[in-house]
Amino acid sequence: MIDPHVHLRDWQQANKETVCHGLKIADEVGLDAVFEMPNTDPLIIDKNTVMKRIKLADSCNINIFHGLYIGLTIHKEQITEAVKLHKKLFPRVVGLKLYAGPSTGSLVVKDHGHQKFVFRTLKKLNYNGVVAVHCENETLFESDKWIPHIPITHSEARPPAAEISSVKNILKIAQDIKFDGSVHICHISVPGSVTEIEKVREQDQIKVSCGITFHHALLYKQLMKKTNGIFLKVNPPLRDLEIQKKMFQMILDKKIDVIETDHAPHQLVDKLREPYSSGISALPFYPKFIQILKENGMSDNEIDDLTHNNINKIFNMNIQNTHKNRSVISKNEYEYDPFDFLNN
Ligand SMILES: [Zn+2]
Repeated sequence: MIDPHVHLRDWQQANKETVCHGLKIADEVGLDAVFEMPNTDPLIIDKNTVMKRIKLADSCNINIFHGLYIGLTIHKEQITEAVKLHKKLFPRVVGLKLYAGPSTGSLVVKDHGHQKFVFRTLKKLNYNGVVAVHCENETLFESDKWIPHIPITHSEARPPAAEISSVKNILKIAQDIKFDGSVHICHISVPGSVTEIEKVREQDQIKVSCGITFHHALLYKQLMKKTNGIFLKVNPPLRDLEIQKKMFQMILDKKIDVIETDHAPHQLVDKLREPYSSGISALPFYPKFIQILKENGMSDNEIDDLTHNNINKIFNMNIQNTHKNRSVISKNEYEYDPFDFLNN
């Protein structure tokens, strides 16, 4: 099993998560590989940070594949360096990450014109790897709706339209320039995003894929009304129960290519108070999620596709699926079980 979307923080944010701890949990739950995101502090956007990160992960001595994305900025020299590093260090550098909407940290390219520039630059550099994109259009946020002591308002402040609009924009840019790489839309949370992706797939001009998290597959915004509902603040936010049910069905209907945890732990103090950090610690619950898929009728082969084979295909990799199938749920002081919200 491969998790193509984890945040292992470390460095200036080692109080949230560390590379060695994250890799250890990934190994314990039976994963063969994790691909980690570059919105760290400092950001993983150049040769120096990439090499430091690889050295750090190797020092953990944990026997699973550690891959990383390089973040994209609006600077031509930076994009050029990222492409060179990808070429030289693939598959260790698995691809590039574009934050088309804001999330944790400062790595974001929100302007539509700037997003076009990034893709055009990649095209000129003959980049043919994966660009994973966080799609949310900030101009459609209704930020004044966010009231911290009413956690559910986070979902209202970042509505479905913001995600769908961003997915549409990014795919249009990629189609217009006949992008040679593969566009992976991260953590989709609403059926409208799948519709946009399907339209593009039908035209068969560019390579496109999408992933979903456990939380968008199983949790819904009304749960944020429960005690400690603020723990469920994530980006994109949780949606209505009706939407969540449709998303789960879309997994069963094979409309979604991959499962990605978007593992993003924070300390409780950061979740409960300013800055009310967005993100859930999800890696420990991988076995539980697989079990839920099985209980809902997915076959082992279908689960292999969703958790492994499709990821190998999208990223053009050849990671072995060892079916370790372990089921340790390892917790520590800053982890809590998001599934608990479904029970009580
Ligand atoms: Zn993420």
